[in-house]
Amino acid sequence: MLADLSGVSTIHTSLYCARDFSDAMIFFAIGDSKMKLYPLTFDPIFKPKIWGGRKLKTLLGKNLPPDVPVGESWEIADLEDDQSVVSDGPAKGKTIHEMMDLWRDELLGSAAPFEGRFPLLIKFLDANETLSVQVHPDKAMAQRLGGRVRIKNETWYVVAAEPEGHIYRGVREGVDAAALQTAIQENRVEALLNKIPVRQGHAYYLPSGTIHALGAGVVVAEVQTPSDITYRVYDWNRVEKATGRPRTLHIEEAMQCVSFDTAPIAGEEVHHMASVWTSQTTLIRCESFALDRVRMAAGVDQTIPTDGFMIWMVLDGQVSIRCEGYTKPFTFGAGQTILIPAGIKDARVESDTSSMWLEASLPIASPLSGFERPDREKSSNAHAAHEKFVQIKTPGQSSPTDEKQGE
Ligand SMILES: [Zn+2]
Repeated sequence: MLADLSGVSTIHTSLYCARDFSDAMIFFAIGDSKMKLYPLTFDPIFKPKIWGGRKLKTLLGKNLPPDVPVGESWEIADLEDDQSVVSDGPAKGKTIHEMMDLWRDELLGSAAPFEGRFPLLIKFLDANETLSVQVHPDKAMAQRLGGRVRIKNETWYVVAAEPEGHIYRGVREGVDAAALQTAIQENRVEALLNKIPVRQGHAYYLPSGTIHALGAGVVVAEVQTPSDITYRVYDWNRVEKATGRPRTLHIEEAMQCVSFDTAPIAGEEVHHMASVWTSQTTLIRCESFALDRVRMAAGVDQTIPTDGFMIWMVLDGQVSIRCEGYTKPFTFGAGQTILIPAGIKDARVESDTSSMWLEASLPIASPLSGFERPDREKSSNAHAAHEKFVQIKTPGQSSPTDEKQGE
């Protein structure tokens, strides 16, 4: 620990101590150092959006605030301005970041946080109208700007789509920066983008730096790296009702990170394993996460095979999870997102009905899998990354760049 603190400023050191102290307070306040972790659910954080609708309620049973178009339900978030709060059980009321501080190893297993944060951001999105054409910082930009500017690799799994449902992903063959810049000025960006018709049950990977937009009439489950930096390129000439004005564009920043690479995007590898009662479909394997779809017939009871944490987004049916330390099972239905900690013991799942869920996890880092964890995430650096987060949160210290809330 002394080695970790070498070279940090006095104020930083005192912050570190303060954090340790508050952790200790939290720890004793819950009064149970022996608490066994269990499948965690969080209060959804709803985001009213100009392009949103009501389908998160009608399709997924979300208890939306009345009379506003809601675009997003943030299911698990560990960001500067948005903290998921545990909704049930002995840890009810704790934020995800407090959980990370208290039970990091039990929660994450061998996985490292992503720049000091819980490594995945999980959402449902309802695009009643097409979202803005946008891009997220690429690696070079994230490295250059640091702080809140993190990459945002993301995946959309189509929960429901109207017949004309589509997304925009990447530029068309032959489009370069000059062509895009001109098209932005002439209001004809759409013509330069790949428009892809989407189908329910398909997943689409969007590496950070890919220009994209979610099309009208599509509801998706979104798995991404923890970042909320969006640069809006084009907003379909919309005006916001509240202000009567168009939303801000971030063209200069966007032009610094749009990828003009038109090679097929790697990572979407659909394959399928099935037994009589269960099936598992591999949807996405990328540097930041793995996404699978699991189906289970009614009445199946089996061990949950986990050596890392998993996130389940239940889309159909009802499942119960049992684990050591709890006599009653935890029961979950469609529309719920569950974080299954890495350190949970003797966990079993029983399908109360025929059920289907998405399973998001971190990719296995090994030469065999082809994935190597970025240096900043390797365990020896994880603590340093966490310290960086503490430093960023210093009261009164402004962040290095303005956050762009753009979707
Ligand atoms: Zn996006």
